[in-house]
Amino acid sequence: MSSKVEQIQKYLQKTGVEAAFITTPENVFYLSGFLSDPHERLLGIMIFKDTAPLMICPKMEVPDAKAAGWSYEVIGHDDKEDAWEVLATKVASLVGGIQSLAIEKSHLTVERLELLQRFYPNSTVSGIDQLLTDMRIVKSEDELVKLREAAKLADYAIQVGCDELAEGKTELEVLSAIEAAILKKGYYMSFDTMVLTGLNAASPHGTPGNTKIKKGDLVLFDLGVVYEGYCSDITRTVAFGEPGEDQKAVYNAVLNANLAAIELAKPGVPVMDLDKAARDQISNAGFGEYFTHRLGHGLGIGVHEIPSIHGGNELPLVEGMVFTIEPGVYKGDTAGVRIEDDVVVTKDGLEILTKFPKELQIF
Ligand code: MN
Ligand code: MN
Repeated sequence: MSSKVEQIQKYLQKTGVEAAFITTPENVFYLSGFLSDPHERLLGIMIFKDTAPLMICPKMEVPDAKAAGWSYEVIGHDDKEDAWEVLATKVASLVGGIQSLAIEKSHLTVERLELLQRFYPNSTVSGIDQLLTDMRIVKSEDELVKLREAAKLADYAIQVGCDELAEGKTELEVLSAIEAAILKKGYYMSFDTMVLTGLNAASPHGTPGNTKIKKGDLVLFDLGVVYEGYCSDITRTVAFGEPGEDQKAVYNAVLNANLAAIELAKPGVPVMDLDKAARDQISNAGFGEYFTHRLGHGLGIGVHEIPSIHGGNELPLVEGMVFTIEPGVYKGDTAGVRIEDDVVVTKDGLEILTKFPKELQIF
C-alpha cells in the first residue's frame, strides 16, 4: 500500500477516526498522482482506518485517474447523479456506517459538508488539514527531481524575458513572449507572470500593463513554471541601461539579504532566523521600512505551502524542506527590487534550485 495512504491510516488508527475524505485537488494529486481540476464536480479520496482507500471522480475522468497511477478502486459519477449518494452507497458496501469522519476543513465548504452529512447524520467531524500539510513539508527525492526541473524552466523563462527587453516595449509585450516560450516548450506557468518596469516594480503585487520600458529602468520579473505538478517561483530584477547609484544601493541591499539568509540556512536553524538575517542586511542599508513582507514561503505542488518564512516562526529547518527566499525593497521614489530563489534544505546547508545569475544584470 502506498506509504502516504498508510501514514493517513496510521493517523486514523491512532485517533480512532474511521475515515478521512480528502478533497483538495493538490492533496488528491499528492496521494494518487492524479492531477485534475474538477470545477464544481466531486473529486475526492476516502481513506478508511483499515480498508483499502477509494477515489471518487467524474465518470469521464476514471480512465485518467487509473492511468495516473492510482492502484486502488475508482468510482465515477455522472452529471445526472447525486455524487454524494454514489459515494455513500459505495462506502456503505465497503465499511457499513461511519461514526467519525475527518475532512479538509479549509476546502470542504459548508454546503458540501451538509450534502455529505445527509448520509452520516450522527457522525463527528474533525479536520485532517494539518496532517496533510505536515506530510507535504518535507519533499521526497522524487519530488525534488521535479522541483529541480521546474526551477530550470523558470531560469529559462527569465532568460527569455531578458532577451525580449527593448526600449519602448511594454510590460505586457515582454510577458506574452515569456509565456509563449514556456507554452511552446510544453509547459504552463504556475501563476500569472509579473513583468514590472521602473517604479511600477515598487508595488510588491503590481499588475503588468502598458507601461513602456525605458533606459535606466530596473525591470522585475516574477514567474514560475509547473513541471509534472510541481511549481517553481523565481524573481529577478535586472537593469535596462546603466542604473543610477541609488538604484544600485537598493539592489545590493536586497542581494545581500538574499545571500545572508542562504548562508545561514541548514537543518536545525529556526525559520525566523533566516528572516532576521535578511532583514538586518536591508535595515543596515537604510531600507528596513521598505521590506514589507515575509522572507519566503514553502513550495511544492502548491506555489504557497508551509513553512512560512517569517520572523515569528520558530520551526527549525529540516532536510528536504523546499521554500523561497525572496527579500524585497519597494521604495516608491527610487526602485522596486526583489530577488527570489527556490531552495531545498540539505544535510548541511541549502541546494539552490534557481540558478539565473543574481549579480545585477545590465541589458
Ligand atoms: Mn514569486
Ligand atoms: Mn514567492
